[in-house]
Amino acid sequence: MLVRRLPVLHKALCTCSIQVADVHTQHYDVIVVGGGHAGTEAAAAASRAGANTLLITQKIQTIGALSCNPSLGGVGKGHLVKEIDALDGLMGRAGDWAGIHFSILNRSKGPAVWGPRAQLDRGHYRDFIQSELLSTERLTILEGSVEDLLVSAADPDKPGRHKVYGIRLAHGGGEIHSRSMVLTTGTFLSGSLFMGPNSSPGGRIGDPPSCAGLSYSLKEILGLKIGRLRTGTPPRIIKDTIDFSCTEIRLPDEKPTPFSFINAHVNCKHEDQLPCFLTYTTPGVERVVNESMHVNSHIHQDTKGPRYCPSIESKVLRFPGRLHQVWLEPEGWTSDLMYPQGLSMTMPPDMQLCLIREIPGLHKAQIHTPGYGVQYDFVCPTQLYPWLQVKSTQGLFLAGQINGTTGYEEAAAQGLWAGVNAGRTSLSKVPLSLSRTQSYIGVLIDDLVCRGVTEPYRMFTSRSEFRTSLRPDNADMRLTHRGFEEMGCVSQQRYNEALQVKQSLNEALSALRSISLSATRWRNKLQHVNISETKSTILSGEEVLQYKDVSFQMLASAFPELLAPFLEFSERIKVEALYHPHCEKQRRDIERMQAEESLYLPQDIDYLTLPVSLSKEVREILDSTRPNTLGAASRLPGITPAAIIHLLNYVQREK
Ligand code: FAD
Repeated sequence: MLVRRLPVLHKALCTCSIQVADVHTQHYDVIVVGGGHAGTEAAAAASRAGANTLLITQKIQTIGALSCNPSLGGVGKGHLVKEIDALDGLMGRAGDWAGIHFSILNRSKGPAVWGPRAQLDRGHYRDFIQSELLSTERLTILEGSVEDLLVSAADPDKPGRHKVYGIRLAHGGGEIHSRSMVLTTGTFLSGSLFMGPNSSPGGRIGDPPSCAGLSYSLKEILGLKIGRLRTGTPPRIIKDTIDFSCTEIRLPDEKPTPFSFINAHVNCKHEDQLPCFLTYTTPGVERVVNESMHVNSHIHQDTKGPRYCPSIESKVLRFPGRLHQVWLEPEGWTSDLMYPQGLSMTMPPDMQLCLIREIPGLHKAQIHTPGYGVQYDFVCPTQLYPWLQVKSTQGLFLAGQINGTTGYEEAAAQGLWAGVNAGRTSLSKVPLSLSRTQSYIGVLIDDLVCRGVTEPYRMFTSRSEFRTSLRPDNADMRLTHRGFEEMGCVSQQRYNEALQVKQSLNEALSALRSISLSATRWRNKLQHVNISETKSTILSGEEVLQYKDVSFQMLASAFPELLAPFLEFSERIKVEALYHPHCEKQRRDIERMQAEESLYLPQDIDYLTLPVSLSKEVREILDSTRPNTLGAASRLPGITPAAIIHLLNYVQREK
């Protein structure tokens, strides 16, 4: 079995904390506070964008830690990982390195909504992230706790009331100055941990919360609107005490698919991958939840928790009488623990043990670490620009769970984007935005800054109106060139590789389009494939490839001279061919929308009853603002490009 070791990290990391004496004498372009998924991507991206960057985090050993589930990706989240990778971020490559079980979710649906996912070895994931940061140019890492922000009056020539120019370290550690700052405090801002009837200050089990001064400054000095959210994690179970014969085994994909565009293979071999196991709750689980309600203070709090990842207590309360899935997931190659996904809980530890023993396979199970809940402050993200800078405060960027999201991928995506922009502004370059039409990162940020959050936000493919164009397989074609040419966060080598792939895909599609045969001749060429068109229909190779049963390999066997050179891209070419007509339509729609910016919107339109597909929220915004032109409507916060296309079609139809 694989366990390739990374270069010895921890010795090297320990030397980072020795830099304390140096950092005090220095001024940085960017300071990133927090070494979670947002902070690590932010620090790496700011450095890649050319900024001299300092990452300050409470504990160097927890940089890149997976606080909750040992897994990455999934439906919607996998799209974010691919986009982070296309912009040269860390997460995709770390997943390929640390994965122990790879699968593509949603395979029965179209490739646009497939969800690349992997179970991870926690230690390997953390090691990879730490190793990458250590070898990142222009990046210094400091162990320490940020006690407060240094705030002054704003520069009069720029928007904003305040300016952040540095941080003060706790325990008399002194001040460090910077031009820009990215705060990524995760679940640590005024964090409280809950287990049973008790609560105590903390950001994660074993870690203290952020210093109180930070929350105070955000709220009282900068005047930001702050909310409170909660989440929870399941107990970890000792593997040897589980009876797997009472569970259903789930095997990984036969051929693991890498997250990263620059990896041809993942780090582990197919045959070495570890399985997961499925079991279900029973009525006994419901009984224990009900019996423990009076000693479970977390469940009685008003704060909103993650709707799509609820605790077992919430599930029992919302759906009494229903049985729920419990996935038993390995925590690593050599870990003796299993993570029971679906069993997040906050009752007292003795009741947690009673509960899990009501589940088939877990009758004799032992708990290694009990589950617990966490409540934390977040900053209402409508106070941010689309480049994740706080509108009222020059130099201050926020990313990750502090903006009301949940999940590693959502945090990392924001971190990368805040890091790029903090780096750019520190170097006096203009900040950039990503549109909803270009990426899921754009969708995520647009949703946050335009609509805000009322509960922890997680990504789904249904949040994107342009699903057929924004696919996991083409994230590099959508973003890598921009990452190099505009954002400066993509290396020359990755850019060159993406250009080569793009050229090969274009050549392959041209070659397919150059083949043109009647349906009868196609039927002769591709026996066993049901080409249902009439005899006289002429079909190109690209059109034939859109048939479900036709693979690129089949066409390459039929036309080896023309197509065999592109065999290594078979799957990508198939997906491109499949979605080409939809994407072309979307591209034309977007171009039409841009060309019709000045289209006049009649002032007597009744937006509330307009017979087109608009959400209630969009109707209300249009009704209350009554924009004069399509362009003005498109710039309103909360108005999606899809809504603009519907509006454009309606106005042109009614002319
Ligand atoms: P974090 O990963 O929380 O990282 C924050 C970092 O900032 C830490 O390294 C911390 O040490 C550092 N830090 C904080 N304050 C300071 C300071 N003042 N000075 C220096 N460093 C500081 N996600 C899900 O998707 N589903 C779940 O069910 C789920 N459950 C969770 C349950 C628990 C108990 C916890 C703790 C987290 C859970 N998560 C869950 C959330 C997931 O861990 C986060 O979404 C993700 O880690 C957020 O990344 P982040 O970078 O924003 O913050």
